[in-house]
Amino acid sequence: MRASFLLIALFPLLAMGCADIVKNNPEMGAIGTVPAQTDPEPRTILLSEMVKKLGWEKVDAFGTYNHSIQSSSGDRITFTEGEDMMTINNFYWRFERDAVAKPGNDLMLPESVFEFIAKRYGRSDLVRRKSGSKYDLDPLTPPAEVKKPPQATGTALKGWTICIDAGHGGKDPGGEANGVSEKDITLAVSLRLQKLCEAAGARVYMTRTDDSYPDLDSRCELANSKKCDLFISVHCNIAPNSDDVTGCEAFYNEESESSRRLSAALVNAIVKTTGVADRGARKDTRGLRVLTKTAMTASLVELGFLSNRGEALKLNTKEVQEKMARALLDGLVQYTARERKAVVSK
Ligand SMILES: [Zn+2]
Repeated sequence: MRASFLLIALFPLLAMGCADIVKNNPEMGAIGTVPAQTDPEPRTILLSEMVKKLGWEKVDAFGTYNHSIQSSSGDRITFTEGEDMMTINNFYWRFERDAVAKPGNDLMLPESVFEFIAKRYGRSDLVRRKSGSKYDLDPLTPPAEVKKPPQATGTALKGWTICIDAGHGGKDPGGEANGVSEKDITLAVSLRLQKLCEAAGARVYMTRTDDSYPDLDSRCELANSKKCDLFISVHCNIAPNSDDVTGCEAFYNEESESSRRLSAALVNAIVKTTGVADRGARKDTRGLRVLTKTAMTASLVELGFLSNRGEALKLNTKEVQEKMARALLDGLVQYTARERKAVVSK
């Protein structure tokens, strides 16, 4: 997913210079076509350096992975780790490569981002390449139409109580392959999902928040006793006989139609966000405890296959874990937007 995206993003750069993108700019009106320039070297700049050059300051950002900077006159720009998007005073702009988290709470960005911002704020003098080269970024649709990042939704899950179950843990590593343990991935994704769901207004219960092993019955009991509306069990797959199998799937109890819809929404969101293979929502034929003993709409999501080296290594990165968590949140938002809370009889 990431590799293919990078290829798509870098190809025009390597082949012909920065891609020219002409769209309506909600703030400035249409911008003209810019001749392509040859710049085979993708350059970067640290956010800390950018702030210093501009004479702006770093300010507190809403959301764990966001970084905001502000000018003395109150203009604010926010970047997100692992995303190729920024907001300038709430307008969205896309740039050429993902922002990469760096030690010291810093961020590495394409230099073109700095050039764009410098020119926009009348500081062309700060731009290294003066003659001919021009980087215009891709303005996205106005905020009213654009799908906002999940952390900005605020109330999308208000009124919903969700139990998040990070599969395995402690003495039970779950699947292990390619140097990756299932229990670590499920915990990392679940903790991120917890933050996102809480930011979206949900009440969240976690079956575990560290490397411990609550047994399956106690996980179900927690969700039942807290009268959760939804239960999501996060797992990763292993294909015992083939390292070629990849993709995401989610299991549901066949007696619960809402669980099938939740599972479908979660898989759809993951496929859409990450581009992994779609193995669909599937009937549980194994009588999985967390799907039979929970009294609410429940889904067991398999994010991907650790037995496939590429998928295992991706799932082991903070970036993909964050993306998975966001996708699960998206799936939850999609599901809850259409559903009433229902007590499920199984
Ligand atoms: Zn598992």
